[in-house]
Formats: sequence, C-alpha cells, structure tokens
Amino acid sequence: MRTLSGSFVYEMDKNVEPAWEVEPGETVKAETPDCFNGQIKSDEDTLEDLDMTQVNPATGPIYVKDAEPGDTLLVTIEEIKVKSPGVQGIVPGFGLLQDEFDEPLVTVHEIDEEGIEFEGKKLPVHPMIGTIGVAPEGKPVLCSTPGAHGGNLDTPDVRPGVTLKFPVFHEGALLSLGDGHALQGDGEVCGVSIEVATTTTLTVDVEKETISTPLIEGEDEFITLGSDEDLEGACRIALRAMVDYLSNNTTLSPQDAYKLCSVATDMKVSQVVNPLRTARVSVKKEIVEKFQG
Ligand code: CA
Ligand code: CA
Repeated sequence: MRTLSGSFVYEMDKNVEPAWEVEPGETVKAETPDCFNGQIKSDEDTLEDLDMTQVNPATGPIYVKDAEPGDTLLVTIEEIKVKSPGVQGIVPGFGLLQDEFDEPLVTVHEIDEEGIEFEGKKLPVHPMIGTIGVAPEGKPVLCSTPGAHGGNLDTPDVRPGVTLKFPVFHEGALLSLGDGHALQGDGEVCGVSIEVATTTTLTVDVEKETISTPLIEGEDEFITLGSDEDLEGACRIALRAMVDYLSNNTTLSPQDAYKLCSVATDMKVSQVVNPLRTARVSVKKEIVEKFQG
C-alpha cells in the first residue's frame, strides 16, 4: 500500500497541481499533520509564536482517475491512527464564548492505549478527520472553511468505517484531508479539539451519479451535511439534501419525505466555530428500507 506524505495545501483549489494520482478502488495511507502543522510541542509554546499561515494544512491534492465533473467521489475511512501528543487550547477571538474566554491557552495532551490525558484523568480516543474535501466549484476555499465541497466540516461522524461522498466539480476531484482529532464533541465549541497528526488509511472510488452536498454512509445510517453563514442556514441545506436523498432512494414523494424528516430523522450540530457553520441530518437505514421497493 502506498503512503502519501509530504505534500499539503492550505486552500482547496482546482488550479493546484495534484501531488499523487490514485486509481478508483485503491487504498492508500495518508500522513496528515495536525492543524498547527506540528508547531506546538509543549505547554510552554504560545499562540503568539504561532505562524498562522501554517494553520490547517490538508494532505493532497490527490487526483482520482476517472473522476469527472458531475460524478460522486467515495472516500471510505478504513483506519485513523492518531499520533501522541495531541494539542488543545483557547484561541482569542475564536470559539462560541470568545467574549468571555479571551486569554490564550495551549495544552499538550499525551495519548496512549488508555486514552487522552486531560487534567489528570483519561478521556476516550474517538479519532476523526476534521477537514476533508475536493476542489470547490469556483474560487479557492481555505482549508479552515467548509462548504459543498466538504472542507473543514468538523463532523465527529467522519470516523473509521464510514464512506463519505463528495460532489466532483473538476477532473480528478482533487481530494485533500487533514485536521485529525483524537476527540471532538458536537459543536467543537471552543474551536479547538484534541488536535493530532494521523496516519489515515482510505479507499477512494467513483460513482457516476450527481449529488449537491457531502453525504456520509455509516454502518446503520445515512447523514447529509450542510454549511452556511449561520446554523439555521446550515440546517436547511442539510435537511434539503436529506429530502432529496429520501425522495430519490425510496418510493416517497418529496412532500412525504419532508414529513418523514419531521418524525424520523435527527438534526445535529457539527460545528459552530468555523467561518461557515456545519449541521447534519441523519436517518437510520432501517427507516429508509421500509420505503424501498
Ligand atoms: Ca477543524
Ligand atoms: Ca481541528
């Protein structure tokens, strides 16, 4: 299996030369730096010393053969190995309670088989990828921003065992990923998770069908994602995508799919801290299957 390492981007951009080319169906390992690009190594390192131009690198771009505009890129997350230590902190001007918590703080967290060291106690490791996406349709988008192309989605469901689906806007899709988290709660409220470098194993594939926003297929559920300037807008985009998904994949009309969403899907906050907010809507596969065939 090939290891993809040493090339990363700070923007998802159709004009960046791909670093690697992979075949549909191929499994590769991607080495991803943490969101500070390894600049913070101890509690003594301060945010003032941070080179902010090096924040949120994403390993890529990965050119996927046969991916054409209008297709769907499938990315199955096989495994995420997190590297110790992780870094957390409070960044002034960032986070939902930024007016109240405005003192900069950096903390380094050792991670071992027993979990993440957090103020003398252990928290469980639930690895996920914060930033993953393809080259957006139009202008370049910073890796710190989410959108219809994916990007900084900060959605805890982006974890081993799921398959992500992205709209392909450009030939080769140009996939990039990074911003690993050893643990993140819904909301990512202070703006920083347990930030880690990872070795992420993923399988890519291409489907000849068109979607408008990122989707996640888990073992027992489907999830649609929406990102917008505020949370309500993000919820609306994710809900619209779920109504489309249900009416395209079941015998339900759009009207009935909308009604079903009101009673049998869950709307959750992914993150409330990035330049655009991200929400998601999930439905159990057992519900979808009731209305198929
Ligand atoms: Ca992030
Ligand atoms: Ca992060």
